[in-house]
Amino acid sequence: MNVTEQDRLLTSEEAERIFEKITFEKDCWIWNASVNQSGVPVVKFRGTTTAVRGLMKRHYRVIEARAKACKVTDCVNPAHPRG
Ligand SMILES: [Zn+2]
Repeated sequence: MNVTEQDRLLTSEEAERIFEKITFEKDCWIWNASVNQSGVPVVKFRGTTTAVRGLMKRHYRVIEARAKACKVTDCVNPAHPRG
């Protein structure tokens, strides 16, 4: 299935704002901004505090995580399931 830009959850401005807070290390996307009380990376998205990993999954239409579990707490790569 092709995913066009119009189908993406985030606008390019929103994606840019979020990606500014991510450092790419090897295969992991390391979140450098807010986390909630459980340590889950969160961002203010359209007025609501939202889990970054969920946003990324919806943006990239990741249905099933395909990589093996990632142990990096702050990783928000949508293809990396929580370890
Ligand atoms: Zn990872």
